Amino acid sequence: MEEKSKRSKLEEFLNIDIKNIIKNDAKLIVEGLRNELAKHNYCYYIKDNPIISDAQYDRLMRNLEALEKKYPELISEDSPTRRIGAPLEGGFSTVEHGERMLSLQDAFSYQELKDFLARVYKDLERGENEVEFICELKIDGSAVSLVYEDERFARGATRGDGVLGEDITSNLKTIRAIPLRLFKKAGVKIPSRLEVRGEVYLAKDEFKRINTEREEEGLATFANPRNAAAGSLRQIDPQSTASRRLNIFIYGAVASGELDIASHYEMLNYLAEVGLKINPNIRKTAGFEEIKRYLESWEEKRKDLPYETDGVVIKVNDFSYQRKLGQTSRNPRWAIAYKFPPEEEVTRILDIKVSVGRTGALTPVAVLKPVTVAGSTISHATLHNEDEIRRKDVKVGDWVVVHKAGDVIPEIVKVIKERRDGSQKEFRMPDKCPVCRSDVIKSEGEVALRCTSMACPAQQYERIVHFASKGAMDIEGLGPAVVEKLLDKKLIKDSADIYYLKYDDIFSLENFKEKSTKNLLGAIEKSKKKPLSRLLFAMGIRYVGSHTADVVTRVFADLDSLMHAGYEEIEEIKEIGPKIAESIIFFFKHEQNLKVIEKLRKAGVNFSPELKKVLKKEAFAGKTFVLTGKLNDFSRDEAKEIIENFGGRVTSSVSRGTDAVLVGEGPGSKLDDARRYNIRLISEEEFKKMIKD
Ligand code: NAD
Repeated sequence: MEEKSKRSKLEEFLNIDIKNIIKNDAKLIVEGLRNELAKHNYCYYIKDNPIISDAQYDRLMRNLEALEKKYPELISEDSPTRRIGAPLEGGFSTVEHGERMLSLQDAFSYQELKDFLARVYKDLERGENEVEFICELKIDGSAVSLVYEDERFARGATRGDGVLGEDITSNLKTIRAIPLRLFKKAGVKIPSRLEVRGEVYLAKDEFKRINTEREEEGLATFANPRNAAAGSLRQIDPQSTASRRLNIFIYGAVASGELDIASHYEMLNYLAEVGLKINPNIRKTAGFEEIKRYLESWEEKRKDLPYETDGVVIKVNDFSYQRKLGQTSRNPRWAIAYKFPPEEEVTRILDIKVSVGRTGALTPVAVLKPVTVAGSTISHATLHNEDEIRRKDVKVGDWVVVHKAGDVIPEIVKVIKERRDGSQKEFRMPDKCPVCRSDVIKSEGEVALRCTSMACPAQQYERIVHFASKGAMDIEGLGPAVVEKLLDKKLIKDSADIYYLKYDDIFSLENFKEKSTKNLLGAIEKSKKKPLSRLLFAMGIRYVGSHTADVVTRVFADLDSLMHAGYEEIEEIKEIGPKIAESIIFFFKHEQNLKVIEKLRKAGVNFSPELKKVLKKEAFAGKTFVLTGKLNDFSRDEAKEIIENFGGRVTSSVSRGTDAVLVGEGPGSKLDDARRYNIRLISEEEFKKMIKD
């Protein structure tokens, strides 16, 4: 009960209507907000285990700031709006920073960024073109200060509360990217004491590895790489820190009278020169439009980086301007952190439902209290299978961290067990298919439960949607909603029935007019000529993805010879293993499938591969390609198809075995990988020539 009232208090604090708060109530609310924030600072900074999302924390902070602004008499020096971090806990000795380590003012919109720029121009009495800004990626890790004395790494500390930090020198020494000695070059002066600031981070892969390991050991997982990095830095035993493979980017230094450096940009170059690791994605800009272009260019590209970034830091370049602008108790007034929309949120699991997929697999799906993540509202997240539910210890009624990046399906990252209140319920998978009530089985070596009936309507819907989808028969206009209507009206029962639809059948559907009906009929007709590999993929045979379908149809002359092939014949094909061979044999034995195939044949769907010319071009045949960046004249699927038509192959990541990388606009980290392995790079223009030649 007590936990319940606390939780609703959090909701109240999140949804305060500042305008309507009268003075008499304000004091109590301000105090409540401060306590709430202090609790979350403790969980986040000391325990490295937040129990609310960053977006919720930021909202609490903004509400407190707004109330303190409205009632300045309530301002107090120990308010979380004036301080950073949380009071230090024992365990490490404390050190005082040479200069305070601050946080950064946030901007969550372009308007807030514009307001910041306007304030800077006004305070400096300068015009838009007179102030240079340095844009840098905001690395999502944990801030540290490193002190070099007589060129040697002497001491390192956490940010702590900004004034005092924890001495974590031994742990920092385990990070290879931190030089124990600075480079000494002719003509480059190194002051006797150099204090630099940087962000220790964990690569995305390493974060995953650590969490998987912790899960296996039954330990609590980290909510994000930032908390994992902070936690790893504050291990009592440096051996444990060493096992975490932390990394660092240095982003600044405390001004030293011994150095004659006038700007942040020069300082970064200097730090790189003495051997410190600086992030390479730094740009000099002036004015809102240029800054905006930098922000836009990273919004998507950052997802290809091997480490997390949560925004861009925009800093006034000139040190004399920085000094003039000064700082508040929390933030420098010459910098701002523009934050990308958060990809993580905290919400509650209201229920767990089970859906049945195209191949009959039963997938548990969490029904969530709707929440906005990465700019879209999500209300469902896949839980994959029962093993995953056990491994993550998910219960109905749990508070969870959900993650969504771009178009990727939302996922549950972790359960916040600290927020359990006894009302949570265990979930068990059903022993009957929730759609057709047939028995479900778990095959050996598989994690998923499957419905045993091929006639299960749930499978039909998914199968038909897949059949008509883009990489398969590509029937434009026949998306999930139309398939659902056709099934509801009993106009189709399986994929082949699509080819027997009449004008009136389609015209009778909601939202269909003369033109759209004709278009859909045209698209259906056109799909009959698709290459055999597409048809094979469209049939939805387990383990037969588009690449496998391609491989198989390169060997078999037509569908009939594949249907009559024996297990050995199929298994002999390069890249085809026993599991795939078995699955193909099983599929073509099933009476119901054979009936569908006969209907497809009668409808005139192409069963032979001659429509797909495998031209075996020198430049492509037998070669492995990787695509990165956006192409102007081709979609990725089209480029892939062209390469495969010429006998090449496309893989998703660059390795030593890659023959060439096709580079479009805004390439990702694959380009760096290609350069590292010295792999041939092809531009879109060259690619076009190769196709023509
Ligand atoms: P911040 O993360 O918004 O930004 C400041 C930090 O950015 C600096 O201290 C520095 O370490 C880092 N940084 C990374 N790259 C940088 C670069 N290139 N240049 C300069 N600095 C760079 O602020 P903060 O004070 O560290 O943390 C506050 C944020 O933490 C909140 O906005 C919230 O999102 C989160 N938080 C969440 C909870 C929770 O319970 N969920 C609790 C406390 C804080």
